Amino acid sequence: MPEIPSFTFSNGYKMPTFGLGTYQSRPGEVEAAVMEAINLGYRHIDTAFFYQNEKEIGQAVQTKIKDGTVKREDLFITTKLWNNFHKESSVVPTCKKSLENLGLSYVDLYLVHWPFAFQEGGDLLPRKENGDLLMSDTDYLETWKGMEECARLGLTRSIGISNFNQDQITRLLSVAEIKPVNNQVEVNVNVNQKPLIEFCKKHNITITGYSPLGQPGNKAGIPTGLDNPVVIELSKKYNKTPAQIILRYVLQQGVAIIPKTVTPSRLKENMNIFDFSLTNEEMASIDKIGTGQRVARFGDARGHKYYPFD
Ligand code: NDP
Repeated sequence: MPEIPSFTFSNGYKMPTFGLGTYQSRPGEVEAAVMEAINLGYRHIDTAFFYQNEKEIGQAVQTKIKDGTVKREDLFITTKLWNNFHKESSVVPTCKKSLENLGLSYVDLYLVHWPFAFQEGGDLLPRKENGDLLMSDTDYLETWKGMEECARLGLTRSIGISNFNQDQITRLLSVAEIKPVNNQVEVNVNVNQKPLIEFCKKHNITITGYSPLGQPGNKAGIPTGLDNPVVIELSKKYNKTPAQIILRYVLQQGVAIIPKTVTPSRLKENMNIFDFSLTNEEMASIDKIGTGQRVARFGDARGHKYYPFD
């Protein structure tokens, strides 16, 4: 079992720098994947209200606690507040709903999933007749007050953000009574996020990189780098798979990573990246193959005043 280093948050809590992603991990497959992950030594699990798999993930966690494989305090569990619960009064009840789904009394990290809001309650992706998203202008500064309440009530150890840009973080830090400890954003070969990582470091905010593999098979057909000759050459040199080279590249940006898989052999493969490192020149050679294309753009929300990407 590899030794997985942790980041220490500004509030003193620790987060393993490697965990399991579960977006698009479907009911019927995610419970077994999470149990197998815990058996293999994964201690950090990432989910969200939006993924609609909190219940199964909770079941897997309960089973592994009951059979003595882990204790609750050995695990680091993240979930996220969805966009149609951004009013201050909705945040605590929604966090409690996630805890009920997970069968837990607290999560380790609760994140605001996106800075923009949708119409409160109802559909997770509420739409007008013409198909446009039904947005709301609830300010994420209001949402943050609810997040702080979740922390004060002990529903979560730490609070953070996801998909926030530098201006939004600056605005949040100017009023936050409890500072965000983490920003979860896309980090992979195409989007290495160097400026945002630097900025967050200065403000004591750790970064978790999502879609670290570039979501192979993504609907937009964006290349992941897995079959790029530079990556293949390095995989031969280090006797690692292309996926392991890319995960190591992302980790070496100074971020935590949460690759998603429900495939047992890949669960093992993806965590086996702590026994080698890429040189500065090799990192730079992978930098060069990036295209700048994001897999998670949420283009439907582009018109919203808090849409985070250019
Ligand atoms: P990833 O980059 O983790 O890619 C997941 C895909 O890669 C799956 O199809 C998986 O297939 C496949 N895969 C996994 N391991 C390998 C491997 N070794 N070789 C080849 N293919 C592999 O994308 P995600 O978008 O899922 O990102 C990871 C996690 O980040 C999410 O699951 C979620 O928890 C989080 N996330 C957060 C977002 C946010 O807005 N905060 C947005 C997007 C993701 P299979 O499962 O079939 O093995």
